[in-house]
Amino acid sequence: MPNVAYELSREFAQQMDEIDPLKAFREQFFLPEKQGKPAIYFCGNSLGLQPRTAASYLQAELEKWAEMGVEGHFEGSVPWVDARKPSKQQLARLLGAGTDEVVAMNGLSVNLHLLLVSFYRPKGNRFKVLTEVGAFPSDQYALESQVRYHGYRPEEALLEIAPRPGEHLLRTADILEKIRQHKKELALVMLPGVQYYTGQCFDMEAISREARLHGIPVGFDLAHAIGNVPLSLHDWEVDFATWCSYKYLNAGPGNVSGVFVHRKHGSDPEIPRFAGWWGHVEEKRFAMEKGFIPMKGADGWLLSNDPVLGLAVLQASLDIFEAAGMERIRAKSELLTGYLEFVLRETIAARDALEIITPSKPTDRGCQLSLLVHKGGKSLVDTWTKNGLVADWRNPNVVRLAPVPLYNSFQEVYAFGEILRASLDG
Ligand SMILES: *Cc1c(COP(=O)(O)O)cnc(C)c1O
Repeated sequence: MPNVAYELSREFAQQMDEIDPLKAFREQFFLPEKQGKPAIYFCGNSLGLQPRTAASYLQAELEKWAEMGVEGHFEGSVPWVDARKPSKQQLARLLGAGTDEVVAMNGLSVNLHLLLVSFYRPKGNRFKVLTEVGAFPSDQYALESQVRYHGYRPEEALLEIAPRPGEHLLRTADILEKIRQHKKELALVMLPGVQYYTGQCFDMEAISREARLHGIPVGFDLAHAIGNVPLSLHDWEVDFATWCSYKYLNAGPGNVSGVFVHRKHGSDPEIPRFAGWWGHVEEKRFAMEKGFIPMKGADGWLLSNDPVLGLAVLQASLDIFEAAGMERIRAKSELLTGYLEFVLRETIAARDALEIITPSKPTDRGCQLSLLVHKGGKSLVDTWTKNGLVADWRNPNVVRLAPVPLYNSFQEVYAFGEILRASLDG
Protein backbone atom coordinates (compact mmCIF):
# COMPACT_ATOMS: atom_id res chain seq x y z
CA MET A 1 0.00 0.00 0.00
CA PRO A 2 1.36 3.44 -0.82
CA ASN A 3 2.19 5.42 2.26
CA VAL A 4 -0.37 8.15 2.58
CA ALA A 5 -0.32 10.62 5.44
CA TYR A 6 -4.02 10.85 6.19
CA GLU A 7 -5.53 14.13 7.27
CA LEU A 8 -8.80 14.81 8.98
CA SER A 9 -10.07 17.49 6.63
CA ARG A 10 -12.58 17.86 3.87
CA GLU A 11 -9.87 19.21 1.53
CA PHE A 12 -7.77 16.10 2.03
CA ALA A 13 -10.73 13.83 1.28
CA GLN A 14 -11.56 15.86 -1.83
CA GLN A 15 -8.00 15.58 -3.02
CA MET A 16 -8.00 11.81 -2.52
CA ASP A 17 -11.19 11.55 -4.56
CA GLU A 18 -9.70 13.65 -7.33
CA ILE A 19 -6.68 11.40 -7.75
CA ASP A 20 -8.69 8.19 -7.32
CA PRO A 21 -8.27 6.17 -10.55
CA LEU A 22 -11.64 4.49 -9.91
CA LYS A 23 -13.63 7.68 -9.21
CA ALA A 24 -15.68 7.35 -12.41
CA PHE A 25 -17.12 4.01 -11.32
CA ARG A 26 -19.32 5.62 -8.68
CA GLU A 27 -21.47 6.96 -11.50
CA GLN A 28 -22.13 3.46 -12.75
CA PHE A 29 -24.30 2.70 -9.70
CA PHE A 30 -27.66 3.87 -8.39
CA LEU A 31 -27.00 5.53 -5.01
CA PRO A 32 -29.94 5.31 -2.61
CA GLU A 33 -31.09 8.64 -1.20
CA LYS A 34 -31.97 9.87 2.25
CA GLN A 35 -33.72 13.21 2.73
CA GLY A 36 -33.21 14.00 -0.95
CA LYS A 37 -29.42 13.50 -0.85
CA PRO A 38 -27.32 10.48 -1.75
CA ALA A 39 -27.02 8.38 1.39
CA ILE A 40 -23.62 7.42 2.72
CA TYR A 41 -24.05 3.79 1.77
CA PHE A 42 -21.60 1.70 3.81
CA CYS A 43 -23.68 -1.45 3.50
CA GLY A 44 -22.27 -3.19 0.43
CA ASN A 45 -21.27 -6.05 2.72
CA SER A 46 -24.96 -6.83 3.02
CA LEU A 47 -26.39 -5.77 -0.33
CA GLY A 48 -24.25 -4.23 -3.05
CA LEU A 49 -25.70 -1.37 -5.09
CA GLN A 50 -27.38 -1.73 -8.44
CA PRO A 51 -25.24 -1.16 -11.53
CA ARG A 52 -26.98 1.28 -13.88
CA THR A 53 -26.39 -1.22 -16.67
CA ALA A 54 -28.26 -4.04 -14.89
CA ALA A 55 -31.63 -3.20 -16.42
CA SER A 56 -30.38 -3.29 -20.00
CA TYR A 57 -28.66 -6.66 -19.53
CA LEU A 58 -31.87 -8.02 -18.05
CA GLN A 59 -34.03 -6.36 -20.66
CA ALA A 60 -32.07 -8.06 -23.44
CA GLU A 61 -32.99 -11.50 -22.07
CA LEU A 62 -36.60 -10.51 -21.50
CA GLU A 63 -36.84 -9.35 -25.10
CA LYS A 64 -35.24 -12.52 -26.35
CA TRP A 65 -37.79 -14.52 -24.37
CA ALA A 66 -40.63 -12.40 -25.76
CA GLU A 67 -39.40 -12.81 -29.31
CA MET A 68 -38.22 -16.39 -29.37
CA GLY A 69 -39.98 -18.29 -26.61
CA VAL A 70 -38.50 -21.74 -26.15
CA GLU A 71 -36.17 -21.36 -29.10
CA GLY A 72 -34.07 -19.00 -27.00
CA HIS A 73 -32.53 -22.07 -25.41
CA PHE A 74 -30.63 -22.78 -28.60
CA GLU A 75 -30.64 -19.45 -30.44
CA GLY A 76 -29.20 -15.98 -30.01
CA SER A 77 -25.70 -14.79 -29.22
CA VAL A 78 -25.64 -16.84 -26.03
CA PRO A 79 -28.18 -19.68 -26.19
CA TRP A 80 -29.76 -20.16 -22.75
CA VAL A 81 -28.33 -23.68 -22.48
CA ASP A 82 -24.94 -21.92 -22.25
CA ALA A 83 -26.09 -19.02 -20.06
CA ARG A 84 -23.69 -19.78 -17.20
CA LYS A 85 -20.64 -19.85 -19.45
CA PRO A 86 -19.85 -16.16 -20.09
CA SER A 87 -19.50 -15.51 -16.33
CA LYS A 88 -16.91 -18.22 -15.84
CA GLN A 89 -13.87 -16.26 -16.98
CA GLN A 90 -14.59 -13.29 -14.75
CA LEU A 91 -15.58 -15.37 -11.74
CA ALA A 92 -12.41 -17.41 -12.21
CA ARG A 93 -10.32 -14.24 -12.18
CA LEU A 94 -11.96 -12.97 -9.01
CA LEU A 95 -11.38 -16.32 -7.30
CA GLY A 96 -7.92 -17.11 -8.63
CA ALA A 97 -9.22 -20.25 -10.31
CA GLY A 98 -9.43 -21.95 -13.67
CA THR A 99 -12.64 -21.51 -15.67
CA ASP A 100 -13.21 -25.27 -15.32
CA GLU A 101 -13.13 -24.88 -11.52
CA VAL A 102 -16.04 -22.44 -11.16
CA VAL A 103 -19.68 -22.26 -12.03
CA ALA A 104 -22.55 -19.94 -11.10
CA MET A 105 -25.55 -21.79 -9.69
CA ASN A 106 -28.16 -21.93 -6.91
CA GLY A 107 -27.99 -20.03 -3.61
CA LEU A 108 -25.09 -20.07 -1.18
CA SER A 109 -26.71 -22.27 1.48
CA VAL A 110 -27.89 -24.74 -1.15
CA ASN A 111 -24.39 -24.92 -2.59
CA LEU A 112 -22.87 -25.39 0.81
CA HIS A 113 -25.03 -28.48 1.27
CA LEU A 114 -24.14 -29.85 -2.16
CA LEU A 115 -20.44 -29.37 -1.46
CA LEU A 116 -20.68 -30.92 2.00
CA VAL A 117 -22.30 -33.97 0.42
CA SER A 118 -19.15 -34.33 -1.67
CA PHE A 119 -16.44 -33.23 0.74
CA TYR A 120 -17.67 -34.11 4.22
CA ARG A 121 -17.25 -37.85 4.17
CA PRO A 122 -16.79 -39.00 7.78
CA LYS A 123 -15.22 -42.39 8.29
CA GLY A 124 -14.29 -44.18 11.52
CA ASN A 125 -12.55 -41.80 13.91
CA ARG A 126 -12.41 -39.09 11.29
CA PHE A 127 -15.81 -37.48 11.57
CA LYS A 128 -15.23 -34.01 13.04
CA VAL A 129 -15.50 -30.64 11.35
CA LEU A 130 -13.30 -27.76 12.42
CA THR A 131 -15.30 -24.56 12.21
CA GLU A 132 -15.57 -21.29 14.17
CA VAL A 133 -17.64 -20.14 17.09
CA GLY A 134 -20.18 -17.62 15.87
CA ALA A 135 -20.22 -18.66 12.24
CA PHE A 136 -22.98 -17.12 10.12
CA PRO A 137 -26.18 -18.94 11.15
CA SER A 138 -26.84 -20.53 7.77
CA ASP A 139 -23.39 -22.10 7.83
CA GLN A 140 -23.98 -23.35 11.36
CA TYR A 141 -27.32 -24.88 10.41
CA ALA A 142 -25.85 -26.47 7.29
CA LEU A 143 -23.06 -28.09 9.29
CA GLU A 144 -25.35 -29.16 12.15
CA SER A 145 -27.79 -30.80 9.80
CA GLN A 146 -25.06 -32.44 7.74
CA VAL A 147 -23.39 -34.08 10.73
CA ARG A 148 -26.82 -35.22 11.97
CA TYR A 149 -27.54 -36.61 8.53
CA HIS A 150 -24.43 -38.79 8.94
CA GLY A 151 -25.64 -39.94 12.37
CA TYR A 152 -23.51 -37.74 14.64
CA ARG A 153 -24.49 -35.23 17.28
CA PRO A 154 -23.35 -31.65 16.51
CA GLU A 155 -21.86 -31.39 20.03
CA GLU A 156 -19.49 -34.26 19.32
CA ALA A 157 -18.81 -33.63 15.64
CA LEU A 158 -18.47 -29.83 15.40
CA LEU A 159 -15.23 -28.49 16.76
CA GLU A 160 -15.68 -24.74 17.09
CA ILE A 161 -12.55 -22.69 17.45
CA ALA A 162 -12.93 -19.50 19.51
CA PRO A 163 -10.81 -16.39 19.99
CA ARG A 164 -8.67 -16.42 23.13
CA PRO A 165 -10.35 -15.02 26.23
CA GLY A 166 -10.57 -11.24 25.97
CA GLU A 167 -9.88 -11.28 22.22
CA HIS A 168 -12.26 -10.83 19.29
CA LEU A 169 -10.28 -12.38 16.47
CA LEU A 170 -8.92 -15.82 15.69
CA ARG A 171 -5.17 -16.15 15.50
CA THR A 172 -3.87 -18.07 12.49
CA ALA A 173 -1.39 -19.93 14.73
CA ASP A 174 -4.28 -21.11 16.91
CA ILE A 175 -6.23 -22.38 13.89
CA LEU A 176 -3.20 -24.27 12.61
CA GLU A 177 -2.51 -25.68 16.06
CA LYS A 178 -6.11 -26.84 16.37
CA ILE A 179 -5.82 -28.66 13.04
CA ARG A 180 -2.63 -30.37 14.22
CA GLN A 181 -4.16 -31.30 17.57
CA HIS A 182 -7.17 -32.95 15.96
CA LYS A 183 -5.61 -34.14 12.73
CA LYS A 184 -6.68 -37.75 13.28
CA GLU A 185 -10.34 -36.89 13.96
CA LEU A 186 -10.97 -34.17 11.42
CA ALA A 187 -12.94 -35.00 8.28
CA LEU A 188 -13.20 -31.36 7.20
CA VAL A 189 -12.06 -27.81 7.87
CA MET A 190 -14.79 -25.30 7.02
CA LEU A 191 -14.24 -21.59 7.61
CA PRO A 192 -15.18 -18.25 6.11
CA GLY A 193 -12.73 -16.34 3.90
CA VAL A 194 -13.72 -13.08 5.56
CA GLN A 195 -15.68 -13.31 8.81
CA TYR A 196 -19.06 -11.59 8.47
CA TYR A 197 -19.20 -10.19 12.00
CA THR A 198 -15.62 -9.08 12.68
CA GLY A 199 -14.43 -8.47 9.12
CA GLN A 200 -11.33 -10.60 9.74
CA CYS A 201 -9.78 -12.12 6.62
CA PHE A 202 -8.34 -15.55 7.34
CA ASP A 203 -5.05 -16.83 6.02
CA MET A 204 -6.68 -19.27 3.62
CA GLU A 205 -3.36 -20.30 2.15
CA ALA A 206 -1.81 -21.31 5.48
CA ILE A 207 -4.99 -23.04 6.64
CA SER A 208 -5.24 -25.03 3.41
CA ARG A 209 -1.59 -26.01 3.59
CA GLU A 210 -1.85 -27.27 7.15
CA ALA A 211 -5.03 -29.25 6.49
CA ARG A 212 -3.59 -30.75 3.32
CA LEU A 213 -0.54 -31.96 5.25
CA HIS A 214 -2.90 -34.18 7.24
CA GLY A 215 -5.18 -35.19 4.37
CA ILE A 216 -8.11 -33.08 5.56
CA PRO A 217 -10.31 -31.37 2.93
CA VAL A 218 -10.79 -27.61 3.30
CA GLY A 219 -13.71 -25.47 2.24
CA PHE A 220 -14.31 -21.73 2.51
CA ASP A 221 -17.46 -19.68 2.56
CA LEU A 222 -16.52 -16.62 0.51
CA ALA A 223 -19.74 -14.63 1.00
CA HIS A 224 -17.74 -11.66 2.33
CA ALA A 225 -14.55 -12.35 0.40
CA ILE A 226 -15.41 -12.44 -3.30
CA GLY A 227 -15.05 -9.04 -4.92
CA ASN A 228 -13.54 -7.78 -1.67
CA VAL A 229 -10.13 -9.40 -1.17
CA PRO A 230 -7.65 -11.05 -3.56
CA LEU A 231 -8.12 -14.81 -3.81
CA SER A 232 -5.96 -17.60 -5.26
CA LEU A 233 -8.07 -20.65 -4.60
CA HIS A 234 -6.37 -22.84 -7.17
CA ASP A 235 -2.82 -22.15 -6.02
CA TRP A 236 -3.80 -22.38 -2.35
CA GLU A 237 -5.24 -25.80 -3.17
CA VAL A 238 -8.53 -25.06 -1.49
CA ASP A 239 -10.77 -28.07 -2.09
CA PHE A 240 -14.06 -26.24 -2.47
CA ALA A 241 -15.73 -22.89 -1.91
CA THR A 242 -19.01 -21.11 -2.39
CA TRP A 243 -20.12 -17.46 -2.24
CA CYS A 244 -23.04 -15.19 -2.92
CA SER A 245 -23.28 -12.55 -5.62
CA TYR A 246 -25.43 -9.92 -3.91
CA LYS A 247 -22.89 -8.56 -1.42
CA TYR A 248 -19.67 -7.17 -2.91
CA LEU A 249 -20.57 -8.56 -6.34
CA ASN A 250 -23.56 -6.20 -6.67
CA ALA A 251 -25.67 -8.72 -8.59
CA GLY A 252 -28.93 -7.98 -6.79
CA PRO A 253 -30.98 -9.40 -3.90
CA GLY A 254 -30.90 -13.19 -3.65
CA ASN A 255 -29.14 -13.55 -6.98
CA VAL A 256 -27.23 -16.61 -8.09
CA SER A 257 -24.36 -18.03 -6.03
CA GLY A 258 -21.61 -20.27 -7.35
CA VAL A 259 -19.15 -22.99 -6.48
CA PHE A 260 -15.43 -23.60 -6.80
CA VAL A 261 -14.21 -27.18 -6.95
CA HIS A 262 -10.47 -27.68 -7.25
CA ARG A 263 -9.30 -29.27 -10.48
CA LYS A 264 -7.90 -32.26 -8.64
CA HIS A 265 -11.49 -33.23 -7.76
CA GLY A 266 -13.20 -31.98 -10.87
CA SER A 267 -12.34 -34.94 -13.04
CA ASP A 268 -13.12 -37.60 -10.45
CA PRO A 269 -16.57 -38.99 -11.28
CA GLU A 270 -16.41 -41.18 -8.16
CA ILE A 271 -16.81 -38.27 -5.74
CA PRO A 272 -20.29 -38.69 -4.28
CA ARG A 273 -22.69 -35.93 -5.16
CA PHE A 274 -26.34 -35.13 -5.54
CA ALA A 275 -26.95 -35.05 -9.25
CA GLY A 276 -29.26 -33.31 -11.69
CA TRP A 277 -29.62 -33.25 -15.45
CA TRP A 278 -27.64 -30.05 -15.93
CA GLY A 279 -24.54 -31.70 -14.45
CA HIS A 280 -24.77 -34.61 -16.87
CA VAL A 281 -22.28 -34.69 -19.77
CA GLU A 282 -23.42 -31.97 -22.10
CA GLU A 283 -23.37 -33.96 -25.33
CA LYS A 284 -25.85 -36.39 -23.85
CA ARG A 285 -27.97 -34.07 -21.76
CA PHE A 286 -30.90 -34.25 -24.10
CA ALA A 287 -30.53 -37.96 -24.85
CA MET A 288 -32.76 -38.47 -21.80
CA GLU A 289 -31.03 -41.73 -20.90
CA LYS A 290 -30.52 -43.54 -17.62
CA GLY A 291 -27.19 -43.35 -15.77
CA PHE A 292 -25.73 -40.03 -14.56
CA ILE A 293 -22.28 -39.18 -15.88
CA PRO A 294 -20.96 -35.91 -14.39
CA MET A 295 -19.43 -33.23 -16.56
CA LYS A 296 -15.78 -32.53 -15.84
CA GLY A 297 -14.98 -29.68 -13.49
CA ALA A 298 -17.32 -27.66 -11.30
CA ASP A 299 -20.08 -28.09 -13.90
CA GLY A 300 -20.41 -31.68 -12.70
CA TRP A 301 -22.10 -30.29 -9.58
CA LEU A 302 -24.85 -28.49 -11.52
CA LEU A 303 -28.43 -29.63 -10.92
CA SER A 304 -30.84 -27.33 -12.68
CA ASN A 305 -30.82 -25.39 -15.89
CA ASP A 306 -29.26 -21.95 -15.66
CA PRO A 307 -31.11 -18.99 -14.05
CA VAL A 308 -30.85 -16.83 -17.15
CA LEU A 309 -32.41 -13.65 -15.75
CA GLY A 310 -30.23 -13.64 -12.65
CA LEU A 311 -27.13 -14.39 -14.67
CA ALA A 312 -27.85 -11.40 -16.88
CA VAL A 313 -27.67 -9.04 -13.90
CA LEU A 314 -24.59 -10.84 -12.58
CA GLN A 315 -22.95 -10.25 -15.94
CA ALA A 316 -23.64 -6.51 -15.76
CA SER A 317 -21.77 -6.43 -12.48
CA LEU A 318 -18.91 -8.70 -13.55
CA ASP A 319 -18.28 -6.45 -16.54
CA ILE A 320 -17.77 -3.55 -14.14
CA PHE A 321 -15.30 -5.60 -12.10
CA GLU A 322 -13.51 -6.48 -15.31
CA ALA A 323 -13.23 -2.84 -16.33
CA ALA A 324 -12.06 -1.70 -12.91
CA GLY A 325 -9.70 -4.63 -12.28
CA MET A 326 -9.45 -6.38 -8.93
CA GLU A 327 -5.93 -5.02 -8.33
CA ARG A 328 -7.05 -1.42 -8.59
CA ILE A 329 -10.16 -2.18 -6.56
CA ARG A 330 -8.06 -3.69 -3.80
CA ALA A 331 -5.53 -0.85 -3.86
CA LYS A 332 -8.29 1.71 -3.39
CA SER A 333 -10.00 -0.47 -0.82
CA GLU A 334 -6.92 -0.50 1.39
CA LEU A 335 -6.63 3.28 1.16
CA LEU A 336 -10.32 3.93 1.72
CA THR A 337 -10.74 1.57 4.66
CA GLY A 338 -7.43 2.83 6.03
CA TYR A 339 -8.92 6.32 5.90
CA LEU A 340 -12.07 5.19 7.67
CA GLU A 341 -9.92 3.63 10.36
CA PHE A 342 -7.94 6.86 10.69
CA VAL A 343 -11.10 8.99 10.89
CA LEU A 344 -12.60 6.66 13.48
CA ARG A 345 -9.48 6.68 15.62
CA GLU A 346 -9.19 10.46 15.47
CA THR A 347 -12.83 10.89 16.32
CA ILE A 348 -13.30 8.28 19.02
CA ALA A 349 -9.88 8.77 20.63
CA ALA A 350 -10.17 8.81 24.40
CA ARG A 351 -13.86 7.98 24.29
CA ASP A 352 -14.93 4.58 25.43
CA ALA A 353 -18.21 4.30 23.49
CA LEU A 354 -16.73 2.50 20.49
CA GLU A 355 -13.99 0.01 19.71
CA ILE A 356 -12.80 -1.23 16.31
CA ILE A 357 -12.50 -5.01 16.39
CA THR A 358 -11.49 -5.64 12.76
CA PRO A 359 -7.76 -6.28 12.30
CA SER A 360 -5.67 -3.22 11.66
CA LYS A 361 -3.37 -4.94 9.17
CA PRO A 362 -4.74 -4.50 5.63
CA THR A 363 -3.92 -8.09 4.62
CA ASP A 364 -6.05 -9.35 7.53
CA ARG A 365 -9.22 -7.60 6.44
CA GLY A 366 -11.37 -6.57 3.50
CA CYS A 367 -13.11 -3.22 3.26
CA GLN A 368 -15.38 -3.66 6.27
CA LEU A 369 -14.65 -2.33 9.74
CA SER A 370 -16.71 -3.67 12.64
CA LEU A 371 -17.24 -1.53 15.70
CA LEU A 372 -18.21 -2.79 19.10
CA VAL A 373 -20.65 -0.33 20.59
CA HIS A 374 -19.92 -0.20 24.32
CA LYS A 375 -22.18 2.74 25.09
CA GLY A 376 -25.37 3.97 23.50
CA GLY A 377 -26.22 0.69 21.77
CA LYS A 378 -28.37 0.65 18.71
CA SER A 379 -29.76 4.13 19.40
CA LEU A 380 -26.31 5.63 18.82
CA VAL A 381 -26.25 3.97 15.42
CA ASP A 382 -29.83 5.14 14.80
CA THR A 383 -28.66 8.75 15.08
CA TRP A 384 -26.08 8.08 12.36
CA THR A 385 -28.82 6.60 10.22
CA LYS A 386 -31.01 9.66 10.75
CA ASN A 387 -28.14 11.75 9.47
CA GLY A 388 -27.77 9.93 6.18
CA LEU A 389 -25.74 6.81 6.86
CA VAL A 390 -26.74 3.33 5.75
CA ALA A 391 -24.85 0.81 7.86
CA ASP A 392 -25.76 -2.42 9.43
CA TRP A 393 -26.34 -3.28 13.03
CA ARG A 394 -25.79 -6.86 14.17
CA ASN A 395 -26.96 -8.05 17.54
CA PRO A 396 -25.79 -7.98 20.21
CA ASN A 397 -23.55 -4.93 19.81
CA VAL A 398 -21.72 -4.60 16.52
CA VAL A 399 -22.11 -2.10 13.72
CA ARG A 400 -20.50 -2.92 10.41
CA LEU A 401 -19.22 -0.18 8.12
CA ALA A 402 -18.13 -1.15 4.64
CA PRO A 403 -16.81 1.60 2.36
CA VAL A 404 -16.88 -0.13 -1.01
CA PRO A 405 -14.11 0.98 -3.40
CA LEU A 406 -16.28 0.75 -6.53
CA TYR A 407 -18.81 3.34 -5.37
CA ASN A 408 -17.80 4.94 -2.08
CA SER A 409 -15.59 8.00 -1.73
CA PHE A 410 -13.11 9.52 0.69
CA GLN A 411 -15.46 12.46 1.12
CA GLU A 412 -18.16 10.11 2.34
CA VAL A 413 -15.77 8.69 4.90
CA TYR A 414 -14.97 12.21 6.04
CA ALA A 415 -18.67 13.10 6.17
CA PHE A 416 -19.38 10.05 8.27
CA GLY A 417 -16.66 11.21 10.66
CA GLU A 418 -18.60 14.46 11.15
CA ILE A 419 -21.82 12.57 11.84
CA LEU A 420 -20.00 10.36 14.30
CA ARG A 421 -18.41 13.30 16.11
CA ALA A 422 -21.75 15.07 16.47
CA SER A 423 -23.37 11.89 17.84
CA LEU A 424 -20.67 11.43 20.44
CA ASP A 425 -20.68 15.09 21.47
CA GLY A 426 -24.46 15.27 21.59
C1 LIG B 1 -24.60 -13.68 3.47
C2 LIG B 1 -24.15 -14.99 3.96
C3 LIG B 1 -24.91 -16.15 3.74
C4 LIG B 1 -26.24 -16.07 3.05
O1 LIG B 1 -26.67 -17.30 2.58
P1 LIG B 1 -27.79 -17.38 1.41
O2 LIG B 1 -27.90 -18.82 1.15
O3 LIG B 1 -27.27 -16.56 0.27
O4 LIG B 1 -29.05 -16.78 1.95
C5 LIG B 1 -24.40 -17.35 4.18
N1 LIG B 1 -23.22 -17.42 4.83
C6 LIG B 1 -22.46 -16.31 5.06
C7 LIG B 1 -21.15 -16.43 5.77
C8 LIG B 1 -22.92 -15.08 4.66
O5 LIG B 1 -22.20 -13.97 4.92
